[in-house]
Amino acid sequence: MNYYSLHHNSPKTSFQEAVIKGIAPDRGLYFPESISPISKEIIENIQNYSNEEIAYEAMKQFVGNEIPEDVLKKIIKETISFDFPVVPIHENTATLELFHGPTMAFKDVGAKFMAKCLEYFNQSSEEEVTVLVATSGDTGGAVANGFLNAKGVKVVILYPSGKVSDIQEKQLTTLGSNITALEVDGVFDDCQNMVKTAFLDDEISRKLTSANSINVARWLPQMFYFFFAYKQVAHLNKEIVFSVPSGNFGNICAGIVAQKLGLPIKHFIAATNVNDTVPNYLEDGNYNPKPSKATISNAMDVGDPSNFIRIKELFNSDLETIKKHFSSYSFSDEQTKEVMKKIYNETSYVADPHGAVGYLGLEKHGLSSNELGIFLETAHPVKFLDVVEDTLSVQVEIPSQIQKVMDKEKRAISVKSYEDLKQFLNFG
Ligand SMILES: *Cc1c(COP(=O)(O)O)cnc(C)c1O
Repeated sequence: MNYYSLHHNSPKTSFQEAVIKGIAPDRGLYFPESISPISKEIIENIQNYSNEEIAYEAMKQFVGNEIPEDVLKKIIKETISFDFPVVPIHENTATLELFHGPTMAFKDVGAKFMAKCLEYFNQSSEEEVTVLVATSGDTGGAVANGFLNAKGVKVVILYPSGKVSDIQEKQLTTLGSNITALEVDGVFDDCQNMVKTAFLDDEISRKLTSANSINVARWLPQMFYFFFAYKQVAHLNKEIVFSVPSGNFGNICAGIVAQKLGLPIKHFIAATNVNDTVPNYLEDGNYNPKPSKATISNAMDVGDPSNFIRIKELFNSDLETIKKHFSSYSFSDEQTKEVMKKIYNETSYVADPHGAVGYLGLEKHGLSSNELGIFLETAHPVKFLDVVEDTLSVQVEIPSQIQKVMDKEKRAISVKSYEDLKQFLNFG
């Protein structure tokens, strides 16, 4: 499969190169040259297929012959080695829980898939590649875990000192091996700026790659979730509306790819916090990126969503077509807390702030009697412990995979400036 740059100013490239480079030389995101529906037979009889078979069928055209069939199947098996349950909430709403992976964030799937692809592509190379990533919390843990012990791959994670939760910090700093955490004296934007500077620094950029959702190997596997959800609810014969709590819009964009592959999805709702660039665009057709605002659903604090350009491409940049398939609504922290209480009081379900924003999206959009609304729960409530416990006056039990890292010792290197980072990377 070939990929082109959405800035249309770089040559087409293979899946392998797209994964290794992350972004095209013209700074555009890569996009697959074609998207062809998978066999109708599989979708009509989806209950008869295992998650691994479904994921392989969905993914194979995007990889082409660049990874042998048996290797790709093995990579997929390792990527989706946990549950993705659909849990009923009300009569016509349910949640798709994406937090049963090793770091309890939905990013586990994309991070693991990308790590395994990179490891495969780099196996015959003498040189190590370095994955450089800045995190405001959740991405770092998923990337650290996904890439742990990947051969030929070094991972360097920058995080803002004192600005991530205790759990998140432990997930980043305790793994060792090929993972190094750099504790930056600054805020998330400082970490992000150092990473951007490194990618533009000719002396070191050649050996670096990025592990956020601009990378096709992190973005595409997220389409699996929508297939796995459909498999669990197909027998209800309802029309499916997905509400996806969105920040960089990679997850929902992968859902639209699943729809292009033939999955019967009636409508998509992108639910955001007060970072409302996309809801505003749908209203007046003007795309005005803004600096991000801090909220309680902080993994979605994004003012200029990097994947929105891919959504436009999927709908041929036609605003009317986008609006037909896709709605987007923005919600405040107050509304988020109120609905967390409402869901808990009515059903005893503990939603995290991100999932709650997804639920608000369904409520605002409204559902007809033959529709089933599914909101995605993108993180376990324990990842946002303070907000959840304060809002609901409940105690959230710490799951074993989190408790395990809490007992380990933090190891991080202090970094004050870009020069410190460059010196640490120290490529000869
Ligand atoms: C990353 C993240 C999101 C946003 O996903 P996008 O693909 O960037 O839209 C939502 N919730 C949680 C918990 C996340 O970590």
